[in-house]
Amino acid sequence: MAKILVPIKRVVDYETKVRIHADGNKISEDGVKWIVNPFDEIAVEEAIRLKEQKGDVEVVVASIGPDGTSEQLRTALAMGADRAIHVNTDAYIDSDAAHRILAEIYLRDSFQLVIMGKQAIDSDASQTGQLLAARLGLPQATFASKLVIDDSFATATVVREVDGGLETLRIKLPAVVTTDLRLNQPRYPSLPGIVKAKKKPLDVIELSGLGIDTAPKVRIVSMQPPAPRKAGVKVGSVAELLDKLSNEAKVI
Ligand SMILES: Cc1cc2nc3c(=O)[nH]c(=O)nc-3n(C[C@H](O)[C@H](O)[C@H](O)COP(=O)(O)OP(=O)(O)OC[C@H]3O[C@@H](n4cnc5c(N)ncnc54)[C@H](O)[C@@H]3O)c2cc1C
Repeated sequence: MAKILVPIKRVVDYETKVRIHADGNKISEDGVKWIVNPFDEIAVEEAIRLKEQKGDVEVVVASIGPDGTSEQLRTALAMGADRAIHVNTDAYIDSDAAHRILAEIYLRDSFQLVIMGKQAIDSDASQTGQLLAARLGLPQATFASKLVIDDSFATATVVREVDGGLETLRIKLPAVVTTDLRLNQPRYPSLPGIVKAKKKPLDVIELSGLGIDTAPKVRIVSMQPPAPRKAGVKVGSVAELLDKLSNEAKVI
């Protein structure tokens, strides 16, 4: 059986209006809605599609975070992943700590493939996949917009969108692939999927028991909200809109 590891990160919903915490270097978590990082949802979707195409595949999702993180893991299980691993911690985890923990999870089993988001929409660091591949000595193909795996899970063909067009790579498995937006459109969890997810295995491991140095290498010094946007203007007709765009904004 081929096993695919999909690391998923819990992030604040991109539709939430975030507020900066009084400390000035983090966001306030009061009342925010948490979601699976959208690029990781794409990774989960891709792993499930591979399972559907090839049959004998196990999709394992893993996340590092506080107690509530199990909710995002259940979402991935409801989409169709087989089992979940929750590394439980309240600590701040930067890309360096995340990749060390994910490497430990990878080494505890025998995975043929790691598929993960190209970046998390909170920190936008875009480092964890690359660090993980380097630490494990695995080939990596980042920002995948198409992924084809051969039937014996020996190689992956990955199309990447680069500045000048498309680049196609062939890499040996096991490998790390990171997902771009256009790889697929993730499914919504179905009602039967949500019911089934409640019974799927979700192992909780305490980070403190892993003996990994997760001291942050990056310190967030400060955060500032973006400048407020100017109020919009309602126009009465297309002619008025064209007039304003032409004579006031001078953009047409
Ligand atoms: C997780 C995530 C990652 C993304 N990453 C990327 C990326 O890497 N690269 C990339 O190019 N894009 C990315 N996107 C997409 C991008 O953020 C936006 O979706 C896109 O730029 C917004 O375009 P939009 O035209 O859909 O408009 P919206 O975001 O809906 O709106 C943009 C503006 O259009 C105007 N507008 C919207 N609706 C109306 C309306 N009904 N009437 C009048 N004016 C309106 C408003 O001025 C609004 O501010 C990402 C999106 C998500 C969710």
